[in-house]
Amino acid sequence: MTTIIGITSSYSEISEFPEEAIATIYSPSSFVESIARTPAIPVIIPFQTGKLASDYIHLIDGLILTGGSDISTDLYGEEPHPMLGKTHRARDLWEIELLKEAYQQEIPVLGICRGMQLMNVVGGGSLYQDLSSQREQLIQHIQKANFQTPSHAIKIMPDSWLASLYGKETRVNSYHHQSIKKLSGDFKIVAHSSDHVIEAIEGNNAYGVQWHPELLSQQPYLGQKIFDLFVQKASGKL
Ligand code: MN
Repeated sequence: MTTIIGITSSYSEISEFPEEAIATIYSPSSFVESIARTPAIPVIIPFQTGKLASDYIHLIDGLILTGGSDISTDLYGEEPHPMLGKTHRARDLWEIELLKEAYQQEIPVLGICRGMQLMNVVGGGSLYQDLSSQREQLIQHIQKANFQTPSHAIKIMPDSWLASLYGKETRVNSYHHQSIKKLSGDFKIVAHSSDHVIEAIEGNNAYGVQWHPELLSQQPYLGQKIFDLFVQKASGKL
C-alpha cells in the first residue's frame, strides 16, 4: 500500500490573471516536492469543504500542518496584542478538527511553524503573539536572508527525534514573529535557539518544528531528512 501524506492548505484571493482575483485554495509547492522525494504520495487537503475531518483523515497515513497566518488568540485565552498579524479563524477551526481526528485515528502529525504552534494551542499551551515586542535579547527570527538559507543555530536535546537526524546542533532558517510561550503538557521541548525560543517539540506521535524544512529540503541542505523520517513513521516502518 502506498503511503499517503495529507498537507493542509491556505486560502487567498489570487489569480493568474490580474483582472479577476478568485478564491483559491493552495499549498506551497515545497511541501509537495518534499513528500514527492519520498516513497509517499502528497495530497493537499482542501480547506473548509463542509465535509467531515474524519473522512479526510481516513484517506491519509500522516498529516502535515503547514505554515501561514497567526492563530486566533481566543483559542489560547488571550486578547489580541497590537502586533498580532492577520488571522483566519475558519482555517484554525478546520485544522483543529483535522488534528484532533489525526490523534483519534492515531496517525502521525508533523506541524511546521504555525502548525507546531497550533498543536501547542490545541494541547492547552499559549503563544507569544509578537516575539520582538514581548521578549528581550532576541536573535533575528524573521531572517532577511533568502528563505533557502539556514540563518540561526538550534541546540537539540539528546534522545529526541531530531537528535536522531542532526545530533546535538544544526542550523535552520527562521521566518516567524510568534513562538510557543507556555508549552502544552502534551509535548516536550526538543530544540531551542540560543535566545531560548522553542524551535522544536515532540509529543505522542506528533512532531513540530518552528522553522521551514520544506524550504531547506534541496541539497546541500538537510531538511529532507525530516520528511523522510515522517514518511517512515506514517508507513509504519518506525
Ligand atoms: Mn527561529
